[in-house]
Order: sequence, then structure tokens, then C-alpha cells
Amino acid sequence: MKLQRDYKFWFCTGSQDLYGDECLKNVAEHSRIIVDELNKSGVLPFEVVLKPTLITNELIRKTFNEANIDEDCAGVIVWCHTFSPAKSWILGLQEYRKPLLHLHTQFNEEIPYDTIDMDFMNENQSAHGDREWGHMVTRMGIERKVVVGHWTSQAVREKIASWMRTAIGIVESSHVRVMRVADNMRNVAVTEGDKVEAQLKFGWEVDAYPVNEIAEAVGAVSESDTNALVDEYYDKYEILLEGRDADEFKRHVAVQAQIEIGFERFLEEKNYQAIVTHFGDLGALKQLPGLAIQRLMEKGYGFGAEGDWKVAAMVRIMKLMSAGMKDAKGTSMLEDYTYNLVPGKEGILQAHMLEICPTIAEGPISIKCQPLSMGDREDPARLVFTSKEGPGIATSLIDLGNRFRLIINSVDCKKVEKAMPKLPVATAFWTPQPDFATGCEAWILAGGAHHTAFSYDVTAEQMGDWAAAMGIEAVYIDNNTNIRDFKKDLMLGNVVFGK
Ligand code: MN
Repeated sequence: MKLQRDYKFWFCTGSQDLYGDECLKNVAEHSRIIVDELNKSGVLPFEVVLKPTLITNELIRKTFNEANIDEDCAGVIVWCHTFSPAKSWILGLQEYRKPLLHLHTQFNEEIPYDTIDMDFMNENQSAHGDREWGHMVTRMGIERKVVVGHWTSQAVREKIASWMRTAIGIVESSHVRVMRVADNMRNVAVTEGDKVEAQLKFGWEVDAYPVNEIAEAVGAVSESDTNALVDEYYDKYEILLEGRDADEFKRHVAVQAQIEIGFERFLEEKNYQAIVTHFGDLGALKQLPGLAIQRLMEKGYGFGAEGDWKVAAMVRIMKLMSAGMKDAKGTSMLEDYTYNLVPGKEGILQAHMLEICPTIAEGPISIKCQPLSMGDREDPARLVFTSKEGPGIATSLIDLGNRFRLIINSVDCKKVEKAMPKLPVATAFWTPQPDFATGCEAWILAGGAHHTAFSYDVTAEQMGDWAAAMGIEAVYIDNNTNIRDFKKDLMLGNVVFGK
């Protein structure tokens, strides 16, 4: 998927006029070189734009307010080349509302032992200039990222690149609109939540539509459009008839093609980027949207099953954060389904009734038509595949009644030992970190759901930073987790965010 906006990040260098014009000329030149080299490195996913050196209260305030209103600006990177008295930054920082990165670097990598004098010291003093600046940002309680090291270092560039993707998640969050074409499944707790609070915290608009309005849009899709998409499916995927009549099978697939086109048109017309459905509330739809939802997720739409709008929004956010990433491995909604408890081979089989995003697939993708064990509709067509190996994160955003908590579990995805020929759904399989028992225990203690927003491409650090920017609690379950300390993390969350 592609982002709709050509985002840029502003590079603002802090300084002062105490050391004269010559020094300020060098500061500007050094900043220009750093920005050029960062852009040329090919590491950063977005362009960095150099702004004039910031030395006065007025200019700082004006620059930050311009960043606020520039829709293409996704964040500001600040570096204090020389000392920049931080009281000059108070008003600008107070009014600034976008992601902030403090790049704690300096122009030279090595101390120039043979030539260093006090002029050099005064000109190259981010070691204390950045501390003055950091002090003020901390005193003001502003959430920001700090990246430390020389600007030519690959590790530093990768950290900036990673933060840029977090920043996209932050600025895009308030543009996420979730369409609910069904309410949450009756009696289910964890898919519920406070939609007003979600808009206050995350900026999400979560709206309901009668399912038959979208079913009408599906019904309006022409036969020729539908058939063209069916042809595309038949070119792209393996067809596994499994004893079904070929024409009857194709008619079932065509129902999903019509749903894909109708849903996409309806979502686009009404400007929604995420959607929830519910197998028990399908109105005039002939099948539970399976293949259709899988294809929409692949295009970048967020999705949550059984009315799970929090997961739909989170899948959308994580797809935005990984948009355009080279060698991306995929992002999807998943559901903890069943366990393998054989010692040494423990793991969780991930699946859903149908709706797993094919971006996480590895190997062939097939279309099958099988009955659903729930609901009262035609056997829906779905894409079936297994998923990639490697590390990923499973996230669960829960509503605790007085606050949201984001649970972030680092997981190791594996191949299942044997094929599962009778299972007609896409799957993934993972072992939660730090190990199966501790990972599951921590997840349950934290109140994590059975639906997750999963990604191979977004990191736990990025999601934790995203949560911090949203002002919500985040807990990590990874190789550093032990239950005693994890319970203290939860207690600390209760103290900070209220019980
Ligand atoms: Mn479910």
C-alpha cells in the first residue's frame, strides 16, 4: 500500500548569536550537509527538509506553528549545534502538536586533537546544548524520541527511519475512520470499548452503518465488473475445488468478488479506511465477507471481526506505519485459536474464521469454499495459506473501563510441523516470548484479547512510542519479561493511569 500524503520531516537546528556570524554560518552549513547526507543515504523512508537555524523565541514559535499547519509535515527533528538557551523554546514547544525527535549528534565524529581550541569548543557544543534543550522538553513533560550518535552511523540512521514510521502512525491516527456494519458480538467483553474516549485519545472516528446499506452497494456492482475480478482471482490464486462442482464453486467466488468491489466503493465514497463485520449480522449479504475482506486488508484497509473496531483501527495504523517498507513481510488481524502444548514445541495456532491478510502469506495462496460452522449463509470463498517465519509483534488494545492499555507481545513465528489439509483457513503459528508459559501468563494477567493486530514489520519499540504519544499505557511482553516484574509493571500502570 501507499500513503496518500507525501510526508516530510523538518530539521531544525538550535543555536544562538553569542559567537558571531561566522559561527552561525558554519552551523547552517553543517546542518545542510547533515540533511543532504541523511537524504542521500537511502535509509530514511521520508525526506528531511532543512529549516533556517532557530535562535530566537519568535522564529522558534513561528516555525513550530508552521509545522503544525503544514499537512505534509509529519514531525520535527531538533538538534542543538551550539548552546541554545531553552527558555527561547518554551512558547514554540507549548504550541507544537506533532511528533518530535531529538537528534543528539555533533558535526565532527572525532575530537580534532591537534587543532582543537576554544573557538572550536564553542562552535561544537551539542554535548551541553542538547542537554539544555532536553531539560526543557522533560520539564514540560513533552513526549519525544531521543536518538544519540554520529549522523553518519548506520545505526543512528536506522533509528531515525524507525521513528519516522512511528511518527506516521501518530499523525495518521487522527485520520483513521472505522466503519461498523455490525455491532459487537453479543455478550463478548473484549471487543467492546468507549468510542468517545477512542476519539479523544487516538482521533479515531468509529461510525455505524446498517449492514443493508453496504449490501445495497454490493448488489449494485455489475456482473462484468464482478467477472473481471473473478478472472483476476483465478489467475492469481490456486483453485482448490475439493470435489465441488467447478461452476458452483465459481459462483461462490463471484459473490466474494462482488463484495470486494461493493465494499471498497462504499468505503471510498464515505471515506473510511477500516471496517468491521460480524458473521451473525449479514443482512442481505449472501456470504460472510472472507476473500473480499482478505483482499481489502491486503490493499491497506484495517479490519476487525465480530465488530472489533479497536483491532480494525490498530491493523490500519500498523499498515500505515509499515507502508512502502522494502521487503515488508506483512500485517494482519489474527486470533489466538488453539495451542500446541507438546514440550519444546509449544505455540499458538493463529487463524480466524476467514479473515487473515495475505500480506503475511508464504508460499502458494489458494481459494477454497467450505461451510462456516457459524451463521446461516452460503459457504464462503476464502484465501488459504500459511505464514512466514521470523519475529513479529502481536498487539492488543484493551479498554479497562477507565483507560486504554496497549499490550505488545514479541513473538517468534514458525512453520507448523505438518500440513493441516482439513483446515480450510489461513494460519500463522508462533511462540510468544519469553517462552510459551510466561508469555501466555503475562498476556492473561494484562487482560489481552484473543484478537490481535499483528505485524512482522512494525517493532515493539515503535508501538510503545506510539502509545506514549497517544498518552496511554503500554506493556511489553518479550525476552526480558518475568512475571514478578511484569506484575509490578501492571501495578505501576494502575498508579500512573488510575485503577
Ligand atoms: Mn473472532
